[in-house]
Amino acid sequence: MNPKERIEELVKILNDANYNYYVLDNPTITDQEYDKYLRELEILERKYPEYILANSPTKRVGGEVIDKFEKVTHKIPLLSISDVFNEDEVRDFDNKIKKLGVNPEYVCELKIDGLAVSLQYEKGILVRGATRGDGVVGEDITHNVKTIKVIPLKLTREIDIEVRGEIYMDKKTLEIINKEREEEGLPLLQNVRNAAAGSVRQLDSKIAAKRNLNNFIYHLPNPLDYGITKHSDALKFMQDLGFKVNPANRVVKNINEALDFIHEYTEKRASLPYEIDGVVIKVNDINEQRELGNTAKYPRWVVAYKFPHNDVLTKLQDIIFTVGRTGQITPNAVLDPVLIMGSTVARATLHNEDFVNNLGLMIGDTVVVHKAGDVIPEVKGSVIERRTGAEKPFKMITECPICHTKLIKKEGQVDYYCPNELCPARGIEALIHFASRDAMNIDGLGDEIIEDFYNEGFLKSIPDFYHLQEHEDEILLLEGFGRKSFDNMISAIENSKKNSLEKLLFGLGISGVGSKTAKILAEYYGDIDSLMQAPKEELLNIKDIGDILAESIYNYFRENRNLIDKLKMLDLNMKYLGIKKKVNENITGKKFVMTGAISFMTRDEIKNLIEEYSGTFSDSVSKKTDVVIVGTDPGSKYDKAKELGITIWNEETFKNVVDELND
Ligand code: NAD
Repeated sequence: MNPKERIEELVKILNDANYNYYVLDNPTITDQEYDKYLRELEILERKYPEYILANSPTKRVGGEVIDKFEKVTHKIPLLSISDVFNEDEVRDFDNKIKKLGVNPEYVCELKIDGLAVSLQYEKGILVRGATRGDGVVGEDITHNVKTIKVIPLKLTREIDIEVRGEIYMDKKTLEIINKEREEEGLPLLQNVRNAAAGSVRQLDSKIAAKRNLNNFIYHLPNPLDYGITKHSDALKFMQDLGFKVNPANRVVKNINEALDFIHEYTEKRASLPYEIDGVVIKVNDINEQRELGNTAKYPRWVVAYKFPHNDVLTKLQDIIFTVGRTGQITPNAVLDPVLIMGSTVARATLHNEDFVNNLGLMIGDTVVVHKAGDVIPEVKGSVIERRTGAEKPFKMITECPICHTKLIKKEGQVDYYCPNELCPARGIEALIHFASRDAMNIDGLGDEIIEDFYNEGFLKSIPDFYHLQEHEDEILLLEGFGRKSFDNMISAIENSKKNSLEKLLFGLGISGVGSKTAKILAEYYGDIDSLMQAPKEELLNIKDIGDILAESIYNYFRENRNLIDKLKMLDLNMKYLGIKKKVNENITGKKFVMTGAISFMTRDEIKNLIEEYSGTFSDSVSKKTDVVIVGTDPGSKYDKAKELGITIWNEETFKNVVDELND
């Protein structure tokens, strides 16, 4: 498509979106998509000004005015605010202002996600409320504005004044309304912004009255008329008149402090009762604002930093399968690359067959992707409305994608496995895992090198790591390997022999044993021989170890004695190098509750002692409690323990146990 055609297409997409968003209060594309298209159009228009269309959305302020409302002409237009999306762009805004000869102080405010309103007062009495509309002509919504309790009908002073702010809906209110609508079988309101806009743009004021709308005032269009020369003073002035001004605003001396404000509210955002979509940075001095002036669409003295979009739409191109070190098969989403919170995402795990089926994903779908915990990309679901009919259903594979062995599903589990112990994919993954940071942490052995060594035949099983030296000549011939990198790799391998036991235990890849369990086992047993001899029942007594895990650990050491012996011969350390956990058969692995007072130890001392010996100490008695320690003046826990037939230790029994520990 040539630039002219693309410009035409983008103008159409954006104008349609504007109509749905501003007129119908029912967006059909996400804000992220809208912002992306608008950016693209702005860049193209800058490059090809000859193709700019008269109806370009870059030239107009948002909405349109619909006939059902009376029209209101704004004496001072309500402009849009130019958006920036990262720190560099915030700094560019500051630099541009400085180039124009102004070195300003700024006011930072939260960008409330609602809709702009202009309020007109005569002699201190509210006479009109209007939407922004197209910036010059708005809609008269006085009847609805009057239902919003925080908007004063009468000010503290009898003055003529126009103020501007945001009508919004609290997060909690939207939740309550949507719960009610769900019960009544009504379609849910999409988000706080559309809910607020849809409520005030109604002819019947009963609807707005029921919606519990809220308001913050943040702008005085003509402050100089009141002798005010700073925006921060205007905020104070409006507050004194009886308006609700958001206290979360801050005067800052420079752009670095503005960035601090942005960082602070990026953190606090989720805990606010209202939705914000960014931070607005305004030049504080009104005369400097005037000096800077406006473009057709935006004032030059203000900018809106928009938070990165966490929920992003993209296309699910395909679902591919990978084989893990235990043979576990994982479906993975192949996505059209998309920027989420600063990094490009092209893959996301889909965990297993059930996960994909529960989400109802089809290949070719538009999917919502977000970063779970802001780090790991996760597919949240499909946008069904965007289906074209060309999407293909997801089908779980039945054979290993690498060695074509028929997959198996273990009883009671959702995952499929490749049962072939010799499957190359499993072998390579197991080796990569062994060398990885949380396991043996062997520097200089990245995933690709391990794969190459595997394919070359130098590295087929774990002990081979410690024989790589013998392949020196061949390895030095490989591309990318020099003497130095080879020597470094060998010394990293040599060093790994000294690792504490938990690193080795994790590296072995025992099914279900993550780094945390490896640490627990190493601490508990102290050396690998004690662990290898541990009966299943004893493993079960250890905190966080359940049936499946105990079984898996037990079986692993029955099946892999040979491997452990080989590693011992290679001089790998098999001992825990931290402080070993204390063990006592009366305490370790048991659950304790205490009631009443014990004369020779405080409650905290008893708790610490029990935990030192890997027992658990809890507050309430249940069927799972093993022992209740009963002192003088016991409470109802004592009765409950008797009722459930739980072992009871009186002070004397407990003293004997403690004395035994000290022997
Ligand atoms: P904007 O998001 O660019 O910012 C200006 C608005 O911010 C003001 O009009 C005001 O209402 C609001 N605001 C909140 N707190 C403020 C404060 N403290 N000080 C000053 N203003 C404050 O506004 P816009 O021009 O109405 O909307 C453009 C944005 O709306 C787009 O970037 C997009 O994200 C969204 N949009 C989405 C669609 C869609 O289809 N999804 C369509 C159109 C617009």
